[in-house]
Amino acid sequence: MNFLEKYKKEFEEYDRLDHDFIDDDKIWAQLNKWENPSKEDVRRVLKKAEQCVRLEPEETAILLQNKDENTIQEMYELAHQLKEEVYGDRIVFFAPLYISDECSNDCSYCGFRSSNKAIRRKTLTMDEIEQEVRIMIEEGQKRTVLVYGESSKTEADFICETIKKVYSVKTGHGEIRRANVNCAPLTVEELKKLKNVGIGTIQVFQETYHHETYRKMHPQGTIKGNYRWRLYCMDRAQQAGVDDNGIGVLFGLYDWRFEVMGLLYHTIHLEENFNGVGPHTISFPRITPATGTPYSEHPEYAVSDKDFKKLVAVLRLSVPYTGMICTARESDEVRRQVIPFGVSQIDGGTRIGVGAYAKSKNANALPEQEQFSIGDDRSLDSVVEEICNMQFIPSFCTACYRAGRTGEHFMKVAKSRFVHNYCIPNAIFTLKEYLLDYASDETRTKGEKILKQHVGRFQGEPVYSKILGNLKRLENGERDLRL
Ligand code: SAM
Ligand code: SF4
Repeated sequence: MNFLEKYKKEFEEYDRLDHDFIDDDKIWAQLNKWENPSKEDVRRVLKKAEQCVRLEPEETAILLQNKDENTIQEMYELAHQLKEEVYGDRIVFFAPLYISDECSNDCSYCGFRSSNKAIRRKTLTMDEIEQEVRIMIEEGQKRTVLVYGESSKTEADFICETIKKVYSVKTGHGEIRRANVNCAPLTVEELKKLKNVGIGTIQVFQETYHHETYRKMHPQGTIKGNYRWRLYCMDRAQQAGVDDNGIGVLFGLYDWRFEVMGLLYHTIHLEENFNGVGPHTISFPRITPATGTPYSEHPEYAVSDKDFKKLVAVLRLSVPYTGMICTARESDEVRRQVIPFGVSQIDGGTRIGVGAYAKSKNANALPEQEQFSIGDDRSLDSVVEEICNMQFIPSFCTACYRAGRTGEHFMKVAKSRFVHNYCIPNAIFTLKEYLLDYASDETRTKGEKILKQHVGRFQGEPVYSKILGNLKRLENGERDLRL
């Protein structure tokens, strides 16, 4: 069967809808209505945001359009405060694992696109996956996101095999405890298969919510050319029982303010249709240069660092209960700046080529063969050390997903004292594991200091003795302790 034919029936169903939940004209009308909000308008929205509730589109439009430096500063302060309230002082770590760069799509911005002859293609074998995972575990990783191009070699059954393989690798004290997936949109039946092998989050970025730009970037006649097939992927994921969903935009394709509105409308659509469960995470990558890909060198709507910082804060204020991921596409400097305004997850020790962990270990990396270039190629240990310097607790926790607290259950706990009573102690235990098993002397010294500070805050609370007890057990050789 022709690869595109595979989804023909489903495409026809989406074509029959007379509209989808992204109304381009309405979004522009809202942004234009609030082109110059007053200080009072902005402060009215901030007053509401203080209560940790999801904002309405017009309220987000006000924040996006705010040009007054004083109230922008107030936005940053509140975004920082909400991050602390909802997520505490922790930053969750992961690293991507590229499985295949073979792709039948032709997205203008991506190094993996089919018409790019500048890269040699490769899909990892199961043995090669094992080799990559071993290296990742030995560096201290516990959470990964598996990344695939879209081709007949990377269909759902293959993806399931790769997930099973990743979970099966154990070395020393370590293993990967949560495997998320970033792949092409799938059918409900295919997503059920992923659920059965224990997928964490499914990530599918819309890239751009603007219909016309989407058409320009993704040629018709490719699977990715179908906007709605992608737009409704998270609905299908929810129907399949995969209820931790990751949405995202590739910033630089269209106006960043429109795209933030698109992310908000997507969140509202999911909340309205799936018992209040919005996306588990939002990603906001900016385009970076990719080999043989002229568009990526000069994206039409490149977002400045200043606007990037603002969009991170507006997202934090608009959807306070959604995790926010800032990847190593950004430089260490930019990441340092935006983390305090709402980021909850980052990657560290990132290598993005297919087979890149083994290659870089053998000093054999070929960055020009990768999907795009990264801005932060420091080792996991250096990034962990820096997060400690910033007074956050680096966390490798996977407890919620493994205890079945996903989707609706996760939203309930996120809105309670759960973070303080469970997430922070679990962050403490997983950082302790990292320090015992993988950290350099310098990082261990800094990490122990951070642990001491955070453990001290529990003094006088019922959970305090449990935390001390578990830390002792970890020192005595036990692993994988969680509340
Ligand atoms: N092939 C699948 C797809 O397109 O959904 C999944 C993986 S794709 C390798 C992961 C993401 O990388 C894309 O969704 C896109 O947002 C991002 N990406 C593509 N080209 C990029 C570039 N030049 N710079 C930064 N991110 C890029
Ligand atoms: Fe393929 Fe995804 Fe790259 Fe598009 S973004 S060319 S679908 S790997």
